[in-house]
Amino acid sequence: MRPLKRPASTMSRDKNARQVKKPKPDPNTYYGSTLEAKDSKKDIYGMWRGHLIAAWGKYCSYCEIPMGTGLQVEHKDPKSKSNDPYASTDWTNMLLACPSCNRTKSDHPNQNERLTDFLWPDQDVKFSPDPTESAFQYTRVNKAATLTQVDASGQFSTTNLANQDIVIVSAGSVDSAKATRTIGMLNLNAGYDATTGTMSYYTTATDRRIKHRTKAWDYALRATTRLHTVYQEFPDDDDADQMMRTAIERQVISTAISAGFWSVWVTVFYQEVNANRLTLVANDTIRTLIKRLFITGISFLDLRFLGTDTARIGVAKMGDI
Ligand SMILES: [Zn+2]
Repeated sequence: MRPLKRPASTMSRDKNARQVKKPKPDPNTYYGSTLEAKDSKKDIYGMWRGHLIAAWGKYCSYCEIPMGTGLQVEHKDPKSKSNDPYASTDWTNMLLACPSCNRTKSDHPNQNERLTDFLWPDQDVKFSPDPTESAFQYTRVNKAATLTQVDASGQFSTTNLANQDIVIVSAGSVDSAKATRTIGMLNLNAGYDATTGTMSYYTTATDRRIKHRTKAWDYALRATTRLHTVYQEFPDDDDADQMMRTAIERQVISTAISAGFWSVWVTVFYQEVNANRLTLVANDTIRTLIKRLFITGISFLDLRFLGTDTARIGVAKMGDI
């Protein structure tokens, strides 16, 4: 889960007026919209979704899966259970969620839970690829796997597969109790049974978060290898060599943006640099490399993972990104 910086919005609520009964926000005034009052709340969510995607990119705020379409406006404090009458329309209560995270989270935090029992990407999450500095860590493991299929008559059958590499999320050292609860609330490792150490795949599965997370890891690993090769084969300062290095870097950036899972990319690059398998130009530290490839570009149009709150990345090793 990457830290998100929430942009200011005209929908921000006046905190001092919380207890005062105030009218619902007027859709006619929202971003200069010409919506008629009769237009539904869904239309307003549509505008919120557009604003959130413009700020953070087309990724689920929780699992970081890329979503070309179908991202949902998600309420941290569920509008069905919240004691706060403005939860459904409060800008600061909105995140983007994929259907899997949204469905799993459902009405949590429920009436027996507090918002502060969990970590939220726009306010609490501290991320570092070093698990001793991070709330979440990403690990690639090799596990037994099964495939469950269903035939036309509705009969289920399960077969054992060869062991599979999967990337799981677990709590790091920072806020680990809250991180564990958050992972549980969203079931971020859906399909993986930690007790038996088995990954279950279903042919009818709609929850593909682990699969795509693992794919992003594979892409990132290949990207480090290709970068390393190109830097080895084209090390000079002449234009031709520089063009080759720039070309492969741009390809890595495009792949990362398409594959999503910023936290996975940063973790893989950090690990590969630490293991001396990605020895790029001498003065290119992991911090500047990650910043260059996955955080900022040279202009607004060249931003990588939009909305990443760099103030909450790492403490010691990456703090001054
Ligand atoms: Zn998600």
